[in-house]
Amino acid sequence: MKDFNSNPYFELFFKQHENQYAIGNRSYKDRIKTLNKLQWAIEVTYRVEIQKALLKDLGKPVLETELTEIYAIVGDIKYAKKHLHQWMRKQSVGTPIALIGSSSYIKYEPKGVCLIISPWNFPFNLTFGPLVSAIAAGNTVIIKPSEMTPNSSELMSKIVNTIFSEDEVALVQGEVEVSTELLKLPFNHIFFTGSPNVGKIVMKAASQHLASVTLELGGKSPTIVDKTANIDKAAKKIMWAKFLNTGQICVSPDYVLIDKCIKPQFITACKKWIQTFYHDNPQASESYGKIVTDKHFERLNFYLENAKALNAKFEIGGETDGTSRYIAPTLISDLKPEAKLLEEEIFGPILPIVAYESLDMAVAYVNSKPRPLALYIYSKSKANTNKIITNTRAGGTCINNSVLHYVNHNLPFGGVNNSGIGKSNGFYGFKSFSNERSVMSQHTFGVTELLFPPYTGFKEKLAQLTIKWF
Ligand code: NAD
Repeated sequence: MKDFNSNPYFELFFKQHENQYAIGNRSYKDRIKTLNKLQWAIEVTYRVEIQKALLKDLGKPVLETELTEIYAIVGDIKYAKKHLHQWMRKQSVGTPIALIGSSSYIKYEPKGVCLIISPWNFPFNLTFGPLVSAIAAGNTVIIKPSEMTPNSSELMSKIVNTIFSEDEVALVQGEVEVSTELLKLPFNHIFFTGSPNVGKIVMKAASQHLASVTLELGGKSPTIVDKTANIDKAAKKIMWAKFLNTGQICVSPDYVLIDKCIKPQFITACKKWIQTFYHDNPQASESYGKIVTDKHFERLNFYLENAKALNAKFEIGGETDGTSRYIAPTLISDLKPEAKLLEEEIFGPILPIVAYESLDMAVAYVNSKPRPLALYIYSKSKANTNKIITNTRAGGTCINNSVLHYVNHNLPFGGVNNSGIGKSNGFYGFKSFSNERSVMSQHTFGVTELLFPPYTGFKEKLAQLTIKWF
């Protein structure tokens, strides 16, 4: 440990390191008490402050804050409290005949000292969500939230300082340099939510100590709409999911692949729903947010300029205002394959619509890109749905809906390869922050002792019989 003495966060880390068994050995009831404190803080004490912080940072409508931040975390806590007793119990497993006289179980023990690095798009949900799992699993935690949403990070710091002593949970604010220093410390587990590029940096740093990682990353999540789909319903759900949080969601539909024979009707329906949701001037709508920072605004603006330069067709939207970091809900078709919008994760309120001639071509298009975090299918055809699911890979899929699979605590949430490693949500989050310790206990004489040296002919025959029959 002395190698880390010069690290600015070593003292904090060491306090948690020393305290990890005290925290890890707390009873089920004590873990519930901690979760209750967090729940009370989010649901009652700081509820209005959370709404205000998110309004300042992201222009997030209060209703969206209630649903996607407050309700999301409180839901996580309630679910964990309901199931924690079961999760913490020893999970008995069977014993093969060759090991007769013994019994075996799995003990979910805390990983130890954990690091949570979170992004800005759902600052509370994506920081406190993993924290709920970490607490449920009995860990100590250092949190590094995003520097892009300073009001939210400041409030989270206040909440953490009020509820926890720093040898249990601590929050450190700052930019990349802070993460870089933290990542040098020998954490037992790192839970990172952010971009695939930074995910690679985190994984490399973790490899120095062989820390386990959960990487919740992003990427381009496709939406396939086939010709059997209910066009109006599909348009309504896709427009809602795309422009929620102004498109700044990891599971936001990144682009639509649509059967070319229904493309005109689909675009008409999408325009109707944008108008219904945000009226004539979305900039003035209280239901529509803004882009998080100037840097992200510039990035998205560059994608729009690039699309214009390539003569893409702006079906609706395209208006921007740098001073309020506003980008209108935008649908673009006829994009050239080299357009930035078809190459990079968009993470903003711009939706490319790509027409396909056959479902095979749509599947091939999806498979030509890195494996996505989410893949959405709008179809009434079981055969088509099945064809898409069996011939593609994705972290998760919603059929005839978007985004909402994330809300079901019974489903694991996470990506695959470029979109992530490991899972979160409910039991899967608890599992990410736990070591599955295998325990085998010998109660009586074990037959394996018959095979101890010296190896005689009799023992060789016994070994052959064991291989053949057990
Ligand atoms: P980001 O990767 O830029 O930053 C995430 C966190 O990493 C922040 O706390 C940041 O300070 C830190 N960070 C940035 N650069 C770093 C570096 N070089 N070394 C160490 N730490 C560094 O991501 P973002 O812009 O905050 O969020 C957007 C991305 O996150 C998108 O790709 C999105 O899809 C993804 N995301 C994924 C999920 C999910 O659950 N899978 C959820 C939300 C966002």
